[in-house]
Amino acid sequence: FSSVELTQHFLARIKRYDSQLNCFITLTETQALAQAKAADMRLAQGDSSPLLGIPMAHKDIFCTNGIKTSCGSKMLDNFIAPYDAHVVQKCATSGVVMLGKTNMDEFAMGSSNETSFYGPVKNPWDTQAVPGGSSGGSAAAVAARLVPMATGTDTGGSIRQPAALCGISGLKPTYGLVSRYGMIAFASSLDQGGPMARSAEDLALFFNAMAGYDPQDSTSLLRDPEDYTAALGQSLAGLKIGVPKAFFGEGLDAQVAAVVQAAIEEFKKAGAELYDIELPNSHLSVPAYYIIAPAECSSNLARYDGVRFGYRCEQPKDLIDLYKRSRAEGFGAEVKRRIMVGTYALSAGYYDAYYLKAQQIRRLISDDFKQAFKQVDVIMGPVSPTPAFNLGEKVDDPVTMYLSDIYTIAINLAGIPAMSIPAGFVNDRPIGLQLIGNYFSEAKLLNIAHQYQ
Ligand code: GLN
Repeated sequence: FSSVELTQHFLARIKRYDSQLNCFITLTETQALAQAKAADMRLAQGDSSPLLGIPMAHKDIFCTNGIKTSCGSKMLDNFIAPYDAHVVQKCATSGVVMLGKTNMDEFAMGSSNETSFYGPVKNPWDTQAVPGGSSGGSAAAVAARLVPMATGTDTGGSIRQPAALCGISGLKPTYGLVSRYGMIAFASSLDQGGPMARSAEDLALFFNAMAGYDPQDSTSLLRDPEDYTAALGQSLAGLKIGVPKAFFGEGLDAQVAAVVQAAIEEFKKAGAELYDIELPNSHLSVPAYYIIAPAECSSNLARYDGVRFGYRCEQPKDLIDLYKRSRAEGFGAEVKRRIMVGTYALSAGYYDAYYLKAQQIRRLISDDFKQAFKQVDVIMGPVSPTPAFNLGEKVDDPVTMYLSDIYTIAINLAGIPAMSIPAGFVNDRPIGLQLIGNYFSEAKLLNIAHQYQ
């Protein structure tokens, strides 16, 4: 196939199915066809870059020069960034063809895509079900074959949980491997971009294009570039797999547990050894996260004041009215809830009791993983406690919604990498297996996933 043919194929699928799924906020058909033509010229000249001419989509949290970047919010519905995110630049350099920008929970706050200003995404396996969130548009688009791969971001599970619920693969990298420059901030110490695709091999190729040092992000890690496909194909004989008891306790759906356990057993056949491990502080990860993430979000979202960019209310009476009404009208309910929780947690007199305590717990959680990785090479468990739930089922109950990320959040608090890969089905809805590794073990995780698939 030529890149133009591939691009036309996927654009046709988007036009045919996306009215039912709502994966895309913006389609960039004209630009995509121009990029595909350019890719075909490079291919004809003998350029064999692996991603050259391959269609993909960006989560609408990544700034794209001249193309709307909404972050799923009314606040940025009119925002056209004057520059590309580092990830967008890197992908463009690899020669991919961007078909559009995918739907997401507002400012990446959510686990079901229901907080998006543009309406929820539907799960392609069952349109009654949520696709997960916040990268639900990317996950559903890949699952429905509207695009072969898409970018996502993961602050507490937003790549892995929608990947699991839509039956695709996703990688949340080690914090600092993917630049956050031009990736709209939610909780800066946790946010990390990563690839979503159908196989570990695709993820590895895509991740090669996304990762890399960027002086424009002060938390970007200066490391020698690595080829993440290099370990694909290595034997798993002697691999030590840790299975945390804490991930199989109360709250985990019994059928999900059975699918995940059966998947882990498969690795024994490939020569791996299983070990029970303890992650004694993991029950504290959701409460710690729901202090730290809102605290950072309340600070990051202070920039949306109706003055510099984004939504501005009609006819403000004075400056205070402009701030108040622009924010009241521009943000949705979940974003406001987080800003209020975060502002409270950071207030004088409460800081020590909440924010400082949460930071101490964060260290304990990270130490638990350090201990575990002295014993084992990889940790396996569920991604989400249940299969995809129905649209509307949890919208009025934030705490139940927050518990969707009970197995993914600790990984962001520690800054380590983790993946979700398809492991089976419960009631015809996909279930993910989570692979968690030590810092910089992406190549190893990708190989483990590759062997399973
Ligand atoms: N669901 C979690 C939240 O709402 C995680 C979101 C994310 O990873 N961006 O905060």
